[in-house]
This record gives sequence, C-alpha cells and structure tokens, in this order.
Amino acid sequence: MPDRLGPPRDTPLFERITLIGLGLIGSSIARAARHLKLAGTLVAADASPEVTARVRELGLADIATTDAAAAVSGADLVILCVPVGAYGAVAEAIAPQLKSGAIVSDVGSVKGAAFAQLAPHIPAGVHLVPAHPVAGTEHSGPDAGFATLFIDRWSILTPPEDADPAAVNAVRSFWRALGSNVEVMTAQHHDLVLAITSHVPHLIAYNIVGTAADLEEVTQSEVIKFSAGGFRDFTRIAASDPTMWRDVFLNNKEAVLEMLGRFNEDLAALQRAIRWGDGQALFDLFTRTRAIRRNIIAVGQETAEPDFGRRRGGDGDGQ
Ligand code: NAP
Repeated sequence: MPDRLGPPRDTPLFERITLIGLGLIGSSIARAARHLKLAGTLVAADASPEVTARVRELGLADIATTDAAAAVSGADLVILCVPVGAYGAVAEAIAPQLKSGAIVSDVGSVKGAAFAQLAPHIPAGVHLVPAHPVAGTEHSGPDAGFATLFIDRWSILTPPEDADPAAVNAVRSFWRALGSNVEVMTAQHHDLVLAITSHVPHLIAYNIVGTAADLEEVTQSEVIKFSAGGFRDFTRIAASDPTMWRDVFLNNKEAVLEMLGRFNEDLAALQRAIRWGDGQALFDLFTRTRAIRRNIIAVGQETAEPDFGRRRGGDGDGQ
C-alpha cells in the first residue's frame, strides 16, 4: 500500500483554498495540500485561537485566522472540516463573502444533514459539492493530522442531482490528488451505508466500554489488565471525539435507528443460539464473518500486521 504522496504540482489545482476547522481532518488536508502544492494560497480558519496559533507554528497554511467569513473571501474552494453540528452557523457566517463560482465542500461523516444545513445559505452562483473522506483516527486537533491519511482510502462525493459537473470534477480531482479513490452516490445512500459500516460500530464500542466501566464484580483494573482479549480494540474506537460522534448520531438518526433494529434482531438470534446450544449456527456465522475480514484485507482497506498495524495511533479507520 503506498504510504507517500506524489511530487508537488507545477501549477496549483485551485488559486485559493480555505479550510475551516483545523483539527484531525482539516490539518491532514492542509499538510497534504501544502506538500502537493494544490493551492496557490492556502487559508486556514478555526474558531479556536489556540488552534490558529498552532497552525502558524506548524506552518500548515499561508494565512491562519479565527474569522471564517474573512477567510473565505476570494476562495475558489472552501472545505468545512468542523463537526456537523456547527455547519449551519458556519455557513451563515461565510455566505456573504463567498465569491461567485466558488465551490463549497465539506468532510462531514453524515451527508443528508450536511446538505440540509448548508444548502439554504449557499448563494446563487456558488457550487455545493459535499464530500466525506472515509478515513480517520480516534485522535483530534491540529497535531493529530498527517498528510498520508487519505491515501488509498475512499472519498465519497454526494452532490445534489443538479450539481455543476465541472464543480464535481474539481472536487474529485482534489481528493484524487490526496491519494483517495473517489465514489459518487446520493446523500441518503451514503448515510445508510455509513450507518452500518461506521456509526453503529462506534455506538457498539461506546456501549461496551460503558458497560465494562459500570461493572461491579469485575474491577476496572481487571478490565484494563485483560483488555487484549478483544476489549482493547473497542476502547480505541470508543476514544473517538465526543463532539464529532454526538453530532453524527444526532444527524443520522433514521439510518442509525434502522440499522440498530436489524442489529438487535440478529443479536437476539445469537442469544438464542447460545441458550439452545446451537453450535452450528454460531460456527456458520463466525465462518462467514471471518471471510468478510479477509476480503477487507484483500482489497487493501486494512492490514493484517500485528497490532492491526496501528502503532502510529490508529490510522486508516473509515469514520
Ligand atoms: P477535530 O479534530 O475535533 O477538529 C475540528 C476543529 O473544528 C476543531 O479545531 C474545532 O475547534 C473547530 N471548530 C469547531 N466549531 C467550529 C466553528 N464553528 N468554526 C470554526 N472552527 C470550528 O475534528 P475532526 O475529527 O477533524 O472532524 C471534523 C469533521 O470531519 C467532522 O465533521 C467529522 O464528521 C469529519 N470526519 C471525521 C473523521 C475522523 O475520523 N475524525 C473522519 C472523516 C470525517 P475547537 O476544538 O475549539 O472546538
């Protein structure tokens, strides 16, 4: 699997790119865009003065400011990299400064709600092309990002039906330049797929770690000491950013509840198989699931290395 970005471009893809929110995802984009020279000028805006100060120290952008509206002035591409719950306020603030012909995109993990919050604020003549890089880690903030995060990961674009094809292509080129494979689908389909591949697994991790923390007969020190027995991987996922994940569940309610319904039915069937000693049912399911894991490794979306190849701190999750 390639773990390096290609050489810098001779001419930038966009004259001016503005990133809003310089946490894990925003700072990863900034690092890669800077290395690849994708922007003539790269502007970073974050609500937090500590974050903008850190962006300056790390040299992640040409300009770093807390003023998102000023930051988008003259930008050809604006990418929101803030939690989905902040979209409405950010879109309202930047709308008057967006130039005609600009593209507004995002990286949010939920796409139906992203569009619903952004679209009412987008002025005529500005193109809205929502996107979601299915790559991440459980870490947050500008120091957590790294330029290779998106290599060989999928980026899903969810443009509205009437989106300008040239704007969609420009966003596609941007993500391809960062090393991603790009797929286009509707926001509704995205939210259903991600509910089962990412959102419900995170909920299960948050739940099981919470259950373990509340146990009285098994001590917390035993939980930590014997965590290698499967629990440890759940704790990694359950360490993911609370704000981001709160917003994911509040904004993908329907799809998550639909998938949880199915999950609960299947769990009840497993419970029944254990109660009635139906070893064959258990064996059959575990054989099917093992094949799925092997397929994920075979298509390069996971590594079979010891410790899941995550010594750097959990890279490569599809979140
Ligand atoms: P993060 O590390 O917490 O960074 C978010 C940044 O946005 C923080 O610096 C935050 O500042 C800033 N921010 C919050 N509200 C803002 C506002 N109104 N205006 C300007 N800046 C604001 O989060 P992240 O993991 O990069 O996630 C960002 C987005 O990427 C989310 O929409 C998430 O769904 C999506 N995403 C995440 C992952 C992942 O694995 N983490 C993967 C794919 C997509 P404060 O810290 O001061 O609040």
